[in-house]
Amino acid sequence: MFRIGFGYDVHRLVEGRQLVLGGVIIAHRVGLDGHSDADVLIHAVIDAVLGALGSGDIGQHFPDADPAYRGISSLVLLERTAGLMRDMGFQLNNLDATVVAQEPRLGSHIPTMRENLGLALGAEIDRINIKATTSERLGFCGKQEGMEAFAVVSLFAA
Ligand code: MG
Repeated sequence: MFRIGFGYDVHRLVEGRQLVLGGVIIAHRVGLDGHSDADVLIHAVIDAVLGALGSGDIGQHFPDADPAYRGISSLVLLERTAGLMRDMGFQLNNLDATVVAQEPRLGSHIPTMRENLGLALGAEIDRINIKATTSERLGFCGKQEGMEAFAVVSLFAA
């Protein structure tokens, strides 16, 4: 038994917020806005896993109207999603994700992001791939109004 899931997310960039991507706090003059820590990468990954499980989306599982999730680390939400995955009898085969951000350069943070996601999902780091790209100054990512992320996962029946 094999499953594939896709996830996508966008968050707005604002002043006065910490930038958190893949569970890593990154020094930057602006951060992503949202109810949780607004980790756009992890949100895309959660939606990909939920998609593979046929279990709806992040908003259904962790509603942003619920005060329990205010400021919560998205890594905690990912761990809960991984718990659901295990309960349903699945394990991560591999994950591939892309973050679109004009600034800052993310390359040096990617190893720690892979570790964080691997730990939360219970998978070896070589099964977790994360890429970062700019959008060549085009669109809302290029104008630094926001960031977006895309993720694909495959799961197998454990
Ligand atoms: Mg989100």
